[in-house]
Amino acid sequence: MPGTSSRLCARHRRSLPRLSGVTTTQYEAVPEVAADADPRGRDLVVMKFGGTSVGDTERIKGVARRLVAARERGYRVVGVLSAMGDTTDDLIRLAHEISPKPHPREYDMLISVGERISNALCAMAIHDLGHEAISLTGSQAGIVTDAVHGKAKIAEVRAQRINEALDGEMIVLVAGFQGVSAASHDVTTLGRGGSNLTAVALAAALGATACEMYTDVEGVFTADPRIVPGARKLAALTYEEMLELAASGAKVLQLRSVEFARNHDVRLHVRSTFSDTEGTWIVDEEDPVLEKAIISGVAHTDCEPLYRVREIDAAKLFALLADASVNVDTILQVTSDEIVFSAPLEDRASCEEVLGSLDVEWSMRDDLGKVSLVGAGMKSHPGIAAKTFGTLDGIGVEAKVISTSPIKIACHVRTEDVPRAVAALHDAFELENAGAH
Ligand code: ASP
Ligand code: MG
Repeated sequence: MPGTSSRLCARHRRSLPRLSGVTTTQYEAVPEVAADADPRGRDLVVMKFGGTSVGDTERIKGVARRLVAARERGYRVVGVLSAMGDTTDDLIRLAHEISPKPHPREYDMLISVGERISNALCAMAIHDLGHEAISLTGSQAGIVTDAVHGKAKIAEVRAQRINEALDGEMIVLVAGFQGVSAASHDVTTLGRGGSNLTAVALAAALGATACEMYTDVEGVFTADPRIVPGARKLAALTYEEMLELAASGAKVLQLRSVEFARNHDVRLHVRSTFSDTEGTWIVDEEDPVLEKAIISGVAHTDCEPLYRVREIDAAKLFALLADASVNVDTILQVTSDEIVFSAPLEDRASCEEVLGSLDVEWSMRDDLGKVSLVGAGMKSHPGIAAKTFGTLDGIGVEAKVISTSPIKIACHVRTEDVPRAVAALHDAFELENAGAH
């Protein structure tokens, strides 16, 4: 669509003052989690390790040592390991090599395998360290889901087998990212990054003291340290802030798992597998560990496609996009016959499929990224928007589209301007100094 970009851009500029930007983030319904009637989880910790943390057998041995160390400190320990490195991607590639449209049931049978490998290997390593351990599939661990293959929702956690193993002094390892459908008894998977969700659901069901998310970074930072060298690791954030940051491009935690943690009051601790330093706590707004900063961080995405659709009924359009699991973000009703919305890059194919199936005029531009300023203190402090736009103005960066929530201001800017915008906002709000703002 050569040429459409600039016209679309001009239209936005003209229309901006009249626009009401809204942000919606799609959340799943809160599942019932059958917590253990007698709260024996008081000294229980759930420790989740991401794919990089278990990237090879040496690293898995390291994870085993960490789990054993927690056990030796007196905790009852549940480990949830992701698949090793790129295993899940490799399995997905295999499926598509075999079939253009892999059968959903078999697809889940296949891609759930990676987590079984890493958890079984880790159990072996724990045995060699002289401790008892047992690895369980999602199904064996009682992770009961609906029947939607590839993105199943957890309906219930039947923790009996885990509790029995814990009572037997074992370290329990649960294969992340998977469960079993109550209706069909088939293996299901929970969507990419789903091991986070497994861990949080288990922490909720078992009444764990905390859910520790071990990853390859030290915690959540005020901005991407590759762009802002002075970015600071945050000691604590609220669930809402983490949800906004995750939805705005911060990749450290899966959105669904944060929402689940909030709804079930599970304190999360995001920290590094490769060091012992404290990471970032994700907690309730009332929690004393919070710094009460006005602004917590600046998240960004390099590319957030923007779609323009003419002569379409909004209800119909967004129903179709929802059916296609598109996570629509910014929505603008530009004129009575034109709607503009954005959606993450990973939903682009689905978006284009939906729009292509409609008999309407539409266009897409992908030369914009999004910079989002997030902070719970925004709710009660005026002037944040003024300072944001003033800062962008000062470095000659134009906000093409603006959307807000009570704790976020997000601006679509040209992709090449994203790093400068992030750095300037980080500087303007003095995010490198704890408590300075
Ligand atoms: N292995 C799965 C994925 O890569 C699940 C996870 O790592 O959380 O998406
Ligand atoms: Mg992974």
